[in-house]
Amino acid sequence: AFQQLPRLARPRIVAIATGGIERTFIAIKPDGTQRGLVANVIERFERKGYKLVGIKAIVPSKALAEEHYADLKGRPFFAGLVSYMTSGSAPVIAMVWEGKDVIRQGRRIIGATNPLEAQPGTIRGDYCISVGRNIIHGSDSFESAEKEIALWFGKSEVFNWEFANAEWVTS
Ligand code: ADP
Repeated sequence: AFQQLPRLARPRIVAIATGGIERTFIAIKPDGTQRGLVANVIERFERKGYKLVGIKAIVPSKALAEEHYADLKGRPFFAGLVSYMTSGSAPVIAMVWEGKDVIRQGRRIIGATNPLEAQPGTIRGDYCISVGRNIIHGSDSFESAEKEIALWFGKSEVFNWEFANAEWVTS
């Protein structure tokens, strides 16, 4: 069925309909780094069965942070959000995670934007109380994942590799 789809429709339909193997951009924000939550976040994604294909510590430029949050330009908290991300009081830990349905599942692992609405058991539900200091970012769609990975990572910084025990996690 996949082969019969019109050429242009393929990637979009694969990502949405099957929750296939995808990549998402996850970033621990400066407050998450500062509060020593890096290992905890990585562990949650690793234990679930996702594959870390890119990671780096980075203090984003103002231009990068503004582009990353371009959709929110004009919101009253935009300037504060950009200065929080770019302050350099701790780096952002930028990551690319790969696996089945990882974009949607990553959002579930992270929890609601407002930590007071986030379920206990999610990262935001467990570790924070303020929307302005909500520890972590995760792409919210296939389109934003593609945009964000390209924005934060060079091609040579994202790696294709296989789990040696892949058949125990996926079949
Ligand atoms: P998410 O990060 O869950 O995708 P949004 O895209 O709506 O959520 O917002 C991006 C980020 O902007 C949030 O994670 C949060 O850091 C910040 N933000 C959103 N709403 C507010 C707000 N009302 N006050 C301060 N910061 C906010």
